[in-house]
Amino acid sequence: MNALSNTGNVQPGVFDAETARRDFPILARQVNGHPLVYLDNAATTQKPLVMIDAISDYYLHHNANVHRGAHLLSDEATQAFEDARATVAGFINSPSASQVVWTRGTTESINLVAATWGRANLGPGDRVLMPALEHHSNIVPWQMVAAETGAEVVPVAVNDSGEVDLEALKGLLDERVKLVSINHISNALGTVNPVAEVIALAHCVGAKVLIDGAQGVAHYPVDVQALDCDFYAFSGHKVYGPTGIGVLWGREELLDAMPPYQGGGEMIETVSFTGSTWNILPYKFEAGTPDIAGAVGLAAALRYLMGLDRHAIAAHEAALLAYCWQLAADFPGLRRVGQASQIAGVFSFLLEGTHPSDVGMLLDKQGVAVRTGHHCAQPLMARYGIPGTVRASFALYNTMDDVDRLFAGLEKARHFLL
Ligand code: PLP
Repeated sequence: MNALSNTGNVQPGVFDAETARRDFPILARQVNGHPLVYLDNAATTQKPLVMIDAISDYYLHHNANVHRGAHLLSDEATQAFEDARATVAGFINSPSASQVVWTRGTTESINLVAATWGRANLGPGDRVLMPALEHHSNIVPWQMVAAETGAEVVPVAVNDSGEVDLEALKGLLDERVKLVSINHISNALGTVNPVAEVIALAHCVGAKVLIDGAQGVAHYPVDVQALDCDFYAFSGHKVYGPTGIGVLWGREELLDAMPPYQGGGEMIETVSFTGSTWNILPYKFEAGTPDIAGAVGLAAALRYLMGLDRHAIAAHEAALLAYCWQLAADFPGLRRVGQASQIAGVFSFLLEGTHPSDVGMLLDKQGVAVRTGHHCAQPLMARYGIPGTVRASFALYNTMDDVDRLFAGLEKARHFLL
């Protein structure tokens, strides 16, 4: 494989967003006659050239199916695929690569746990707790398995600031609770959830904890061992990698005990018409030909990110949000939605007298890409009695200039709409 590197920003302690922007070719685009300001990163991030090159290099020089080949290309593809798994293991500090299961993304990772661990471990009277700020993909799979098993999905209250009510959680934690499933960072509000505390509390009553890390991995270094979680799920495309690939990490003893998710090639040890036996971890959960190029691309994206100073990036993103809040305080009719004590990556708001989708459309006309609506968090929107918000979400390549362009766009939108 080519030795691929980013164009700058490689020394620890140094992070400059302007330099980083050169690593993301799409950011040079014009949109509706304006230079693009991309503030829809919570939906998906843009891709560094090293990631795009890694996928192209894979298809140009190494493409073959993995694991069973009797030829050089298959060996190379297998090596690249398993190296990618090892890169993910390093990225989240997994004790072993065999605990890293490839999936299509966070949604499939959570469905996998619900359909396997959930079916095997939930029964009538059991409870799955989750804060009322979860993404639909961390609610609906549990509702589906609850309907099958007789278990109950119980929401945990969220306060006016958009924080999980820890007293309410404590009040609900008892021996009926088998799982707490919670996002690391809320995609709708940016709330950074106190996951370490939630994990410790849940473990006191013997409950397992699944962390939906779809937004978490993009903003903070994640260490699954330090967190002490039982499952951690994330999507490649939200952390500068490709769409179509994601990760489920699990504790070895839990993954070992879980039945397979889908049946097919790769996940078996033996097949006969009297019965089949399952492959070892992680292949037991990886039926069929995997997204080999996706894994290679994700690993390239993660290596890119690990080559930067992640704490400096977090500080940079925090400064962008602080600047947003400062401008928001003086902006007529702007109401922030979600004011948790710890927020990462997301500025969610409403403009009095306007509909979020009108604001989003007028921003787009000025080259500013945001997302509007319920952000796949309808129970949370119901909690606030609103149909949705305008959401500007940030990544490492955003700048103070982007924030200025957002607010200049909002000013125009306000004059047009009111
Ligand atoms: N969980 C959270 C917190 C998210 O933000 C998202 C996507 O927006 C998901 C889950 C689902 O991710 P995916 O669509 O990549 O499976």
